[in-house]
Amino acid sequence: MTQTTPNLDALMTRIETMRDDLIALTQDLIRIPTLNPPGDCYRDICDYLDTRLTRHGFDTQLVRAHGAPGDSDKYPRWNIVARKEGRHAGECVHFNSHIDVVEVGHGWTFDPFGGEISDGKIYGRGACDMKGGLAASIIAAEAFLQEFPDFAGAIEISGTADEESGGYGGVAHLAEQGFFAPERVQHVIIPEPLHKDRICLGHRGGWWAEIETFGEIAHGSMPFLGDCAVRHMGAVLDKFESDLFPAMAARHTDMPVVPEGARSSTMNINSIHGGQPEQDPDYTGLPAHCVPDSCRIVIDRRYLAEETHAGVSGEVESILRDLEKSRENFRFAMREINHVAPSMTDRNAPVVSTVDRSITEILGKSPEYVASPGTYDQKHIDRIGKLKNCIAYGPGILELAHKPDEYIGIDDMIDSAKVMAHSLTQLLLPQGDD
Ligand SMILES: [Zn+2]
Repeated sequence: MTQTTPNLDALMTRIETMRDDLIALTQDLIRIPTLNPPGDCYRDICDYLDTRLTRHGFDTQLVRAHGAPGDSDKYPRWNIVARKEGRHAGECVHFNSHIDVVEVGHGWTFDPFGGEISDGKIYGRGACDMKGGLAASIIAAEAFLQEFPDFAGAIEISGTADEESGGYGGVAHLAEQGFFAPERVQHVIIPEPLHKDRICLGHRGGWWAEIETFGEIAHGSMPFLGDCAVRHMGAVLDKFESDLFPAMAARHTDMPVVPEGARSSTMNINSIHGGQPEQDPDYTGLPAHCVPDSCRIVIDRRYLAEETHAGVSGEVESILRDLEKSRENFRFAMREINHVAPSMTDRNAPVVSTVDRSITEILGKSPEYVASPGTYDQKHIDRIGKLKNCIAYGPGILELAHKPDEYIGIDDMIDSAKVMAHSLTQLLLPQGDD
């Protein structure tokens, strides 16, 4: 290996000359409607990426997450992992993007799967979340490979299923299969739309549970002969208002979560239901008169790196236990639906300081450090893959995700492709003496 400083100008110029290719690639990806649910066209987009990346010298594997939630012969959960081995030993940089997009929803003025261009932006479902990021990382890798074929280590690009529904048929499956084992991959960049000048270090935790209160059915004209489960749930909600919500609001994290409001613990009451099932809108009958014997809520509790899973669930459970003592006939059941631990990459981790230097160099400003209020696939890379050297970095405006007329700015994609390629030069080329 030669010990000369890499020619970065040539690399940046090459990325600029690949602008039309980047646009066409992004449009092609948007035009494959990988809706999740149900998990459509995963094989089609993997085949498309397979063709493209094989042409650029990558070895590819298509991996189906057999038996994962949602996987079926009609909607198989396909993933692609492409790897380009360098000519010398070194570390592996992995770009992971999810291939799925959420439902279209209403309010579009552009064709959601058309990839139309207007005013320097490409429109479509998934444009920013995150087919634009995927395209930018592919262009970054291809430009790097063309400019520096003699590199050390390896580059991987994965396109994975089901991030929008938890990632169990995608990154979680790959991590279980050892694809993110520390001896195979050393640096992970997830090009989620956090914006080209931000580094996302991780995300808060999440705990989802169902709580049910019980009563006794009776005639609605004689409620004293029964026991109203909805009133018991009302007592639970009262306690949440008086005790739990203020306690959560008073807790603040050192995680740089955006937006600011998410730097405290939060809880959403996702649903509430008690008594008779809701009837179809065309049902014209009147309700029967009954005291409800069951009431259920689902809670969505987002927690901070400073809190623990046991502390979060225990806090809710102790409110319910106190009510058991203080409130006559109070009976409840609590069931965990899902749990995701917080993930936070160290500010001094190698991938963080590398991308920091690249942003500073390419954009002429220091990056902003953020953490995500909700979770993304970093959770699986951290917990199952045991790989702590992982960030989200990519083009696009987070607030546009899942909205109508979602778009990705072409210049933003170019800029972040430059940042990603610049980071590859730091991690995969010998650094000159400066
Ligand atoms: Zn996303």
